[in-house]
Amino acid sequence: MPVSQRILLVAALGVFAQTVLAQTPPAQAPPSGPTVQDRIARMMSPGTGAWTTDQLATMTLLRDAALTDPYALTELRHLTDNIGPRISGSPQAQAAVDYVAAEMRALGADVQLEKTTVPHWVRGEETGALTAWPGQTPGTTQKIVLTALGSSVATAPDGLTAEVVVVNSFDEAKKLPAGAVKGKILLFNKPFDKRLAAQGNGLSAYGQAVLYRGAGPSVAASLGAAAVLVRSVGGADYRLPHTGMTYYPAGLPKIPAAAVTDEDADLLANLTHQGPVTMRLVLTPQTLPAVQSYNVIADWKGTEHPEQIVIVSGHLDSWDLGTGAIDDGAGIVVSMQVIHLLQKLGVHPKRTVRFIAWMDEEQGGEGAQTYAQEHAADLPNHIGALESDLGADHPDGVTYAGKPELGDYLRPVAQVLDAIGASTLTGGEEAGEDIGFLKGVPGFTPTQDSRFYFNYHHTAADTFDKIDPQHLGENAAVMAVVAYALADASTPAPR
Ligand SMILES: [Zn+2]
Repeated sequence: MPVSQRILLVAALGVFAQTVLAQTPPAQAPPSGPTVQDRIARMMSPGTGAWTTDQLATMTLLRDAALTDPYALTELRHLTDNIGPRISGSPQAQAAVDYVAAEMRALGADVQLEKTTVPHWVRGEETGALTAWPGQTPGTTQKIVLTALGSSVATAPDGLTAEVVVVNSFDEAKKLPAGAVKGKILLFNKPFDKRLAAQGNGLSAYGQAVLYRGAGPSVAASLGAAAVLVRSVGGADYRLPHTGMTYYPAGLPKIPAAAVTDEDADLLANLTHQGPVTMRLVLTPQTLPAVQSYNVIADWKGTEHPEQIVIVSGHLDSWDLGTGAIDDGAGIVVSMQVIHLLQKLGVHPKRTVRFIAWMDEEQGGEGAQTYAQEHAADLPNHIGALESDLGADHPDGVTYAGKPELGDYLRPVAQVLDAIGASTLTGGEEAGEDIGFLKGVPGFTPTQDSRFYFNYHHTAADTFDKIDPQHLGENAAVMAVVAYALADASTPAPR
């Protein structure tokens, strides 16, 4: 638009605004809701709500410190590069528990380790190779890139060789003639919807496809398959397999389960359309006895209502292929940063801010379930719970799960976050897998940009370099500002 036109438009809008502001409602028809003036006035100045101007100033300090303080990034580097993958039940998961507990003690927080029993599944050898297919050069095999799904049982040590059947959905599988997959390897070729992810709905795309990872083995086993493959649940095309949990319901045989890459799923679909395809699958994971592990709980005690609690959290366990940087080392360190900043800036809210590093989110959430049981009687004292578990890309605001009134309640806080582009308040069904177990407790999470998260999620590429320090700082800012706001508010969040 030319400058002259823009000036005219701005002037016209100015006149419009003045006219609107000067209007009085007609006396004969009393308005039923807020007047236009009220609405505009509220937009211009949302007020301070449950906080004083001093408290809003403290939020601004926390926000700005989170953007520049290197603590979160340094901690993440240690968790990922030094400790490494932290799958439930592993020595690295225990090392991470000890490390995070010591770091929280060093800040002066009151630290407890809460016992929880977790699965101990260990990945073994995992290979796939076509042994017969249309157009095969005699004497050759062709590699299929795959990874075992979490909790998968093993094939025989020298593998399983069987024909591959490809379907696109559960419905298609159920419509196959009786016995069509008996003793065969069934591939569920359900693509992750990259368009949804590109529009910022990564979690919806994940939700649609992850059904096949979770329930694929039971559907395949019910049809008599000898093993099951699923197309990887994720967005990138670098021939990366994505692992993740699968489940074996009681009463059905447990069959070996693996995820193939997008590219290998396409290859199998193409070749099986041309004729019979036979594949050798070797998976040698083991399920070892369950082990005792821990949630790390660190309290920054409240000054007036220490018994009232606001949780800041992420999950400390990760998958084993990468080093768990985006899932969910990032959630751990932005939560650690909250305690660090309260300590550094000498901020002591009325209520207790409780850091929790949840154990075993990936393989069933044993840690969160233990916490929910152990603290069931105390949940009414939990004023709110934050969890970050969707990576560490730019947050455009806060997602809340609970009463719709939470949106209005948080509006003054959102104003503080506007400077980092994080003022959008969105109502959601859940704000985190772990805090979802805390029934009745309002939940909050930074609304992270999910366009790229599922490119790396549960792959060998979930590593430290995927973290943008600026975005990590923005997530820490959202966590610190919202946690402080909830913990120091004059009135608790609606529930
Ligand atoms: Zn996670």
